Order: sequence, then structure tokens, then C-alpha cells
Amino acid sequence: MLLAHKIELRPTPEQAEYLDRACGSRRHCYNQLLAHFKQTGAKWSKWAAYQFYIGELRVRFPWYAEVSARVTRNAIDDLDNAFRNFFRRVKAGEKPGFPVFKKKGVHDSFALRESAKFDVEGRELRIEKLPTRIKMRQRPRFTGPTKQVTISKRAGKFYAAILVDTQDYDPKAPDGDIVGVDFGVKSLAVLSTGETVPANQKLKAGLKRLARLQRNLSRKQKGSNHGARAKLKVAKLHARVSNQRKAVIHELSDQLTRRFKTIVIEDLNVRGMVRNRSLARAVSDAGFGTLRAAIEYKAALRDVTVVVADRWFPSSRTCSGCGQLHDMPLSRRTMECDCGLSLDRDLNAARNLEQYGRRTLLGDLKRTQETGQTGSPARSLTA
Ligand SMILES: [Zn+2]
Repeated sequence: MLLAHKIELRPTPEQAEYLDRACGSRRHCYNQLLAHFKQTGAKWSKWAAYQFYIGELRVRFPWYAEVSARVTRNAIDDLDNAFRNFFRRVKAGEKPGFPVFKKKGVHDSFALRESAKFDVEGRELRIEKLPTRIKMRQRPRFTGPTKQVTISKRAGKFYAAILVDTQDYDPKAPDGDIVGVDFGVKSLAVLSTGETVPANQKLKAGLKRLARLQRNLSRKQKGSNHGARAKLKVAKLHARVSNQRKAVIHELSDQLTRRFKTIVIEDLNVRGMVRNRSLARAVSDAGFGTLRAAIEYKAALRDVTVVVADRWFPSSRTCSGCGQLHDMPLSRRTMECDCGLSLDRDLNAARNLEQYGRRTLLGDLKRTQETGQTGSPARSLTA
């Protein structure tokens, strides 16, 4: 079974430069291909793309050769996947989402899908054309031959998602194996196991009082004795609420990373703020970003994988029983589907996230079997 483990890299400045260059070459090649096949009359096929790549791109941009040739060559597969997804969505009557140009600094990544082009030894990663080995923060969790590596850069840090063909995995593992977490509106979180983590009442009450005090303060005249006292009161309460918030974030991230090997969450930065505005405030002023960072931080320490669902993944709108899409305004608390499913809205979303996580972990395996190729990059792990 193919399983991916994403590990933070500790590159030297020279190694980081190579990785940046590889990300840049891959992005450049991808965008050149897309620009070419966007023109009228140009019809996308992998074969046509390969001809264009060999005959034009590699000639015009000889600096592609500064990094492993597979970095740019594999951009063809990536774009092929993007086109396939586009056509699949068109066929399914969904919003198509034509492939878009990659921007610098947004999901920078590249993949090597040929085991001869890289290898992992203990906590070190070798990549073709890079003379030194890159240190990794930990060893891959799974043992077995490595099939593919996807290097990505997020917030200045490099990560390697290493795909391993392993016998370690027990498909009948207990519930503690993987969990989908929906950060609900009413409760803090609903887990796909059916558990609910209630919102912290103290924190809720504190936030309410804080809002009231701040309103009062803004009505008081500046400089008056009264105003100074009120100000101090607000500052004190602010500190207390901030501590409560930290405690809530610590406890939830701690529980999750202790109990589960894989945690599947939504892209909270984007979606949480829009969907769960009120609760997002209750957890953190900066939205769910802090919570996610805490989960990811502890996950790294405890060797736990965090799968972040694509921001467009309709976790609330999909029936977790049959996959049908439904209109789910926030007021609808129950997912009712004509397949017979009737489930609490947040629990349904959590189950969808769990399924998303399982698909992500196994996706590469399926694609390999279906097409006989090494499949799409494990990038989807972090999409
Ligand atoms: Zn259904």
C-alpha cells in the first residue's frame, strides 16, 4: 500500500536555493505549457505537450537543466491532471475551473516520481543534481521502497511528502487511526467518531463581557477619571480572555494529536472565517489560523499527519452516505438525503472530511493501478 508522510526539511542555504530554483523551474514550465495550450487551435494531450516540451521549452530555456530534468518534465503530468479534473467537472455539470497559471509563492512545489532520482536514508534526502543530502526533521514513518517525493514550500519552510510502498499499514486499524474534524458553529468541534467538543462557556462569556465593556469605554470621555478606570478593566479582561483562548486551543490540539494518527481538517484560514464567523472570533481573533498552527505544530512533534482539505471541498454540502450534493444554508442543522441518510450537519461534514483524508492517503495507490503511472503528486496532502 502506498502511503505518504510529510516531513519538514532542514536545508542549508545552498540547498534551499536549489529547492527554490526547482520550484521556479517547475512553475515556469507549467505556465509555459498552459499558455501554449490555451491558444485557440492547440489541443491538449500529453503527447503534444511532450513534443512541445522537448522541441521548444527545453531549447528555449536551457536553465531547466540546472535542476533534475524530471522537475520540469513532471509538470506535464501535473497539467494533465488539472485538465482531467477540469473535464471531469464539466461532465459532472460542476463549476469547471479551467487550469490557472501558477503564481510565485502560492503552493510552490515540485515532484520527483522516479525512484532513481531521489532516495531517503534515515533522516536524509538525496535529490538528483544536488550534491549534498538534505536533512529532514524526522524519518519517514513507514518503511518500504520510496516511490515519489513532493517538495513544497509553505511560509518559508520546505516540506517533503514521501510516498512509501509499505506493508506497515493495517486497514483494520481502530478508530484512532484517522479523524475528520469539523469546526462547527454551535460547538467548538465535531469529530467523525461522533464526539462533540463543546464550546468553552467561560471563554464565550468573557468575550461577551469584553465586547460590552469596550462599547461602554468608547462612550466615555477621554481623559476623565472614569475613563481611565474603565480602560484598566478592559485591559485586565482582555488578558484573561486571551489566556482562556490559549487554553482552549492548547487542549483541543493536544487531544487530537494524542488520539489520532491522521487528522483531517478544512482549510480554516479561508473557510472558517466566512462560514463560522462568530465561532472563529470565539476561538481566536485571527480566526482559526492559530488553532490550525497549534494542531500542525503538535502533529509534527507527535508524528501525526494533518490532511488539510482543499478549500473548495464541499464538506457541509455533500451527503456522507452517497456523495450527493445538497443546498445547505447555515440554518439547516441536519443533512437529509434521499438515500435515507439523516445526520447532524456538523457530524456529516466531519465524516466527509474523514473520507477525504482516506482518499487523499490512498489516492496515489489507485491512480497508479488505474493508469499504470506513478500518479499525481502527493501535493494533495497539503492542497
Ligand atoms: Zn445520500
